[in-house]
Amino acid sequence: MKETNPGKIKNYKNHHYSGVLMHEARLYQKLENNTVKCALCNHRCTIQEGKHGICGVRLNENGTLYAATYGKISSEAVDPIEKKPLFHYLPGTLSYSLGSIGCNFHCQHCQNWHISRASFEDAALRSLSPEEGVRRALATGSASIAWTYNEPAIWHEYPLDMGTLARRKGLGTVYVTNGYITEEGLRELAPMLGAYRVDIKAFTDDFYKKVCGARLQPVLDSAMLARELGMHVETVTLVIPGLNDSKEEMEALIRWVIEHLGPATPMHFSAFHPDYKMTDRGATPAATLEKICNRAKDLGLRFPYVGNVYNHRYENTYCPACGATLIERQGFSSTIRKLDGQQCANCGEKIEIVRHVPDTSS
Ligand code: SF4
Repeated sequence: MKETNPGKIKNYKNHHYSGVLMHEARLYQKLENNTVKCALCNHRCTIQEGKHGICGVRLNENGTLYAATYGKISSEAVDPIEKKPLFHYLPGTLSYSLGSIGCNFHCQHCQNWHISRASFEDAALRSLSPEEGVRRALATGSASIAWTYNEPAIWHEYPLDMGTLARRKGLGTVYVTNGYITEEGLRELAPMLGAYRVDIKAFTDDFYKKVCGARLQPVLDSAMLARELGMHVETVTLVIPGLNDSKEEMEALIRWVIEHLGPATPMHFSAFHPDYKMTDRGATPAATLEKICNRAKDLGLRFPYVGNVYNHRYENTYCPACGATLIERQGFSSTIRKLDGQQCANCGEKIEIVRHVPDTSS
């Protein structure tokens, strides 16, 4: 496996991507006839000269693979971390959030299709160096940097560089991801990545194949590995009426999370709203999500949450032992109530929650 110099930048002249500064990719292999094989996500694309991978942003130019979106952002915001959603990682703080373009999934219900499917020509990308990103995160009072809005795994080299600097400055680091990164990719991120907010979009391979153009098992494998590597893991499942909302499927998913990621893993069950190419069904009723959360609690999950339903009581964090309200949430704002460090202030129960970024400055 070739690990190339991440500092190399050249001016790319391809007619599709004219003027975009290119950065040589990590984690790829050179094959015969100027073909390359990318090992960053589980599509493991073989890419002919002059072509790009499924994600659209990793390009083969004369037998060298380039990360075309390195340092190129489409979106920048300072969000409450609850918006990711992340409820057990630095709660009540701001997260400096960045996105670019492209995606390695082609979900029919994508809610960020305007950037995930954008071309270089349409996207009006802006340049931002890793150093400047860290400076802006600190200047805005953010406690973390999140790579979000589009799939961060396909941006690999850039979050890796920025996150490494961010951790030295005491910032948390967050991936909001579809979980399709390979083991090699995730292991490279491990020294810098604090939180892995992963979508488990359904619990059938059929759904992943038909709706996302991907497979289920690599997503589950990456979530397990992230946990093993010491990252904080939270899952999100967009519950889509008639597609992944059966009692059996949701129970199987919850049981899998309890067994493989642990009962303290926060799981978010979010309401679907018709979008992009999936407009043939209505939004998920709140009652469906409540039922799933109640069942999750019965099965032993400590922190099930409802998502995408404004001001729902199941967005609060409750002590699994005594039921005290530990964190109250309204929209994206949160108020710490009966939480004392990592303990319930009412009964003393240990609460699995990251309140501070581990010190890696030395
Ligand atoms: S990141 Fe994934 S989709 Fe993109 S080129 Fe590499 S293997 Fe293909």
